[in-house]
Amino acid sequence: MGKLISALTMKCPRCGEGELYDKSTLIPKAGMFSMNTHCSECGLKYEKEIGFFYGAMYISYMLNIALFVTATVGYYLFFEDKVDGTWYILGYLLLTFLLIRWIYRMSRSIWLMFFVNYDPDKKEIIK
Ligand SMILES: [Zn+2]
Repeated sequence: MGKLISALTMKCPRCGEGELYDKSTLIPKAGMFSMNTHCSECGLKYEKEIGFFYGAMYISYMLNIALFVTATVGYYLFFEDKVDGTWYILGYLLLTFLLIRWIYRMSRSIWLMFFVNYDPDKKEIIK
């Protein structure tokens, strides 16, 4: 359970305390997609190997499908007779654009959760 909460709050999946991303500013200094290399609390290296986070694309795809289905069902249930379909599409594209950063970060966080065991007592020396 600790691992799932860590993933959803974008914290280290092993200790649940270190941040995966720089949250100190709204617009991070090193780019909106940059990720910390190691956990500041337990020293876990996040990117296990080169290309490790390519697998997060599957999670990103699933999150986007969930967003699309939710938005489309919501539109047809509540707004179909009030709002033109073109505005729905434009609104959906805007929503997707606004959520790019969140979906990107959340998909990496969830992907990492699958490969790391929750163990708050384990510490590593950062090399
Ligand atoms: Zn950690």
